Parts: sequence; C-alpha cells; structure tokens
Amino acid sequence: MTYVFGPVSSKRLGQSLGVDLLPSKSCTWNCIYCQLGRTTAFVTERREFFPKEEILSEILETVASGKPIDWITFVGSGETTLYKGLDWLIAEVKKISKIPVAVITNGSLLSDPEVRRELLEADAVLPSLNAGSPELFERIDRPAPGFTFEKHVEGLRLFRQEYRGKLWVEVMLIRGVNDSEEALKEMAAVLAEIRPDMIHLVMPTRPAPESFVGIPDEELIQRAVFVLSSSAPVLHPAKGEMNLGSVGNLLDTVAGIASRHPVQERELEAALGKLFDGDAAKIRETMGELLASGRFEKVRQGSELYWIVKSA
Ligand code: SF4
Repeated sequence: MTYVFGPVSSKRLGQSLGVDLLPSKSCTWNCIYCQLGRTTAFVTERREFFPKEEILSEILETVASGKPIDWITFVGSGETTLYKGLDWLIAEVKKISKIPVAVITNGSLLSDPEVRRELLEADAVLPSLNAGSPELFERIDRPAPGFTFEKHVEGLRLFRQEYRGKLWVEVMLIRGVNDSEEALKEMAAVLAEIRPDMIHLVMPTRPAPESFVGIPDEELIQRAVFVLSSSAPVLHPAKGEMNLGSVGNLLDTVAGIASRHPVQERELEAALGKLFDGDAAKIRETMGELLASGRFEKVRQGSELYWIVKSA
C-alpha cells in the first residue's frame, strides 16, 4: 500500500485507517514540534499530488478486507488540505462505507472558501491552534510568508459557521512556550470565538526538530485543561489517572492536589471509585465529608465542575 496505513490504534479515533495524501514533507508551516522534521521548502499551492483513483482504490481494498476500522482519517506528510480533491475522496468513501471520515489539518488554508467547501462532508475536522497571539503563532508554527495569525483565526471562525460536523481543535502544549497563564488565557479567548465542539490537548511526545521543545509537567497540563475548558470541553488523552493513595489521609491528599491545580469533580469521583471499589454510597458520603471540611469550593468552568482550595 502506498497511501493507506494502519489501522493504527489512536486514543482519540480508536482504530484509525490513515490515508496519506502528500509527498513528505509538503507544508505551509514549519512547526517547532513537527515530527517530520523541519520544512525545507514551503508548499502553498494546492494540487492533486497523486491520482485520486489510486488512493481511493487502496482505501476500498482495505475496507473490504474486513479489518476493524473506527475512522478513515485523511492526514498528510504535511498539510492535508493542500491535496486538491478531498471532497471527491470523501464523497466516494461515503458511497461504499458507513465508517466516519476525519481530516487532520493545520487549518492554515481554511481562509480559502474552496478548502472549506471540500471539507463540509467530513464527519470530523481536526485543525490546529497553538497560540492566541500573532507573536506566539510565528514562534511556534513558523508559517510560510502571507500565512498570518489573523488569517488563520478567520479561516477557523468561518469554517465553524459553515461546517455542521465535529470541529475538534487540536492544541499542542509546549513547555515554556505556550503553557504560561497569559498564553493559555489568550488561546482560550480565541477558542471562545471559534466555538469548537471540543479541544484536544496534545503534547510533543515525538522527537522534535528543535531541542528546546518538551512536555510541560502535569500541574501545568492540568492548569491548561482548566483555563481552556472555559471555551469548550477539553480532551487530554495522555492524562494520568488521579491516585489518592489510601483512605487515611484523604482530606490532605485531595487538598494537596487541589492547591496545585483545580481538580475535575468527575476525576475525583473516579479516583474515589477506585479507592472504594465503586461503592456509590461511600463515594457520595466521602465527597460530602470533603466538602463539609470547608477547605474546598466548587467552580464551574465551561461544562466542567472543578474543586479548588478556598483561599485563606
Ligand atoms: S503543520 Fe503539521 S506537518 Fe506542518 S510543520 Fe506543523 S506539525 Fe509539521
């Protein structure tokens, strides 16, 4: 197979059949975290890089093989929407299969009405937004000339107005680059304008071309989840489960965690569930006791309830 790979197991898309539409590396950006390495020459003109009939025939063959597939995911060795004719491929796949179709994109071409139109029949589109200011956008995504932050945000905003499928905006969180309170708040404000169905918080877990790129520590990640969830529900696939240790020092343990970052109420419930073998009455009673201690207050952020430590 030349274009199709997998299905690969993906935390966000289950068994995802990848379809690579581009020669490596064809991109409008040169991100500091790109797992494909640096962009040596920008590609900004859309075209049918490979014959679409050949790509379709590989997809059909793999689907017909009966492998379990949850999503057919168009994703390129670069920027997916540089491929001209995505609408034809999506429509043809949908004629022969009920498997939902996702498109992973950096979103840089969404200001082009033709690109937005080609994506309308996808079931989910996952564009990137890694910054809430032009300066940070330039520093992280290092776009080709003319691909400005304003144009990027405008493209995302227009697409949201026209698109009825799932818009899941992907935010790459990079240690010391876009994980400060100020950067997160700026991003949350832009995301609130875009109104995605969900924010997928992802980390640079793969080798990056710039050595300073790294994963923020867990407290900053939790902080990012909290700040960004003011705009839309946040999915953080790499999130570790909360561990409360033993029943003995429960109040201090929860207060210790909540003093460092807000604790999602449903995470706390899940952690207590593990401690009490899913005994719902015991979980309810313990949560009541913790609240009655007077050390916590609950705050709503978007659709989530969080516990924070009351200020003295
Ligand atoms: S948009 Fe994607 S492919 Fe392009 S440079 Fe950034 S990470 Fe790499």
